[in-house]
Amino acid sequence: MDERTHDNLKAQSTNPDLAAVLSGELLCWSCKYDLTGLSVTSQCPECGTPVRATLLAIVDPEATSFKPLRSPVYSAIGLVTWSGAALIAIFCVLLLRVSDLSFELFSMSESMRHFGVLVPVLTGLSGLGALAFIRPHNAVRAWVSIRSIAAVLLYAPLVWLLWNLHVRFDVIYGAPYFGDPINVRERVVRRIGIGLLVLVIALLLRPGVREFAKRSVLLRTGQLSRQTVLALASAVLITLVGDLVHFSSLRWPVMQSVIVDTIWMAFVVIGSAMILIGFIGMFIDSLRLFPVLIKGPKSLRDVIRKEALDGPE
Ligand SMILES: [Zn+2]
Repeated sequence: MDERTHDNLKAQSTNPDLAAVLSGELLCWSCKYDLTGLSVTSQCPECGTPVRATLLAIVDPEATSFKPLRSPVYSAIGLVTWSGAALIAIFCVLLLRVSDLSFELFSMSESMRHFGVLVPVLTGLSGLGALAFIRPHNAVRAWVSIRSIAAVLLYAPLVWLLWNLHVRFDVIYGAPYFGDPINVRERVVRRIGIGLLVLVIALLLRPGVREFAKRSVLLRTGQLSRQTVLALASAVLITLVGDLVHFSSLRWPVMQSVIVDTIWMAFVVIGSAMILIGFIGMFIDSLRLFPVLIKGPKSLRDVIRKEALDGPE
């Protein structure tokens, strides 16, 4: 039976009695209309997008080469938690700085600063999500698992440092970017520690992230541009350089000048903006991967069947 199906597939263009139609649930790539039962050579009745365009976007020619995930739901939820919690943590830091600004400009309440507790809590949640990278399927190479385990362990000192900075230091000393707290050397040292840990964690998790990303034919083939971990790591590196210049100017006062202050501030601001953009991209990629991980990549055979032209077999 399977051989006959295969022959039929091969004879698709030559046998006039059979037509390839869509089986199972296949939604139009453009408007999500259910295309079940339509011929592969037709168009979406709702929006006119050729069915072939949907097939190209959804069918993965390498679908059968991927090892099945041990737990598709756990992997998908882990990935979205990892990137989503990290993104919200970064938004919290951004909100804290905006609230500092409104406090300075409009004498608004300082109570916002207590929301700083969300930063380490959400980072810890992101670390729990990262557990999904350790062993998504049984054929994961050992060094990918080991790197992921090391990354998850490094979340512990990262959460501790973030707690120290956002829950204790900034609450005791006040708004860092207005006045002296920014120039307290201990604060810069904490920032450098946080930057280094984020950088190392990102590089350690890189192969684990790719393990998931390659399962989407659109991300793998570049039909959708993908946020790379390496780009994110270089953004972290830029803020680190800024913090190191800042630290040096505090350590050796001879370096202190408006020019040096401008340089480190520029590195920190540009790097932070790039980190924010990077995490937004990472979160969007996770959402795109979510259905691919849960349902598994689709092969051509999963979505089409052969039918006699005068009706179902
Ligand atoms: Zn459509």
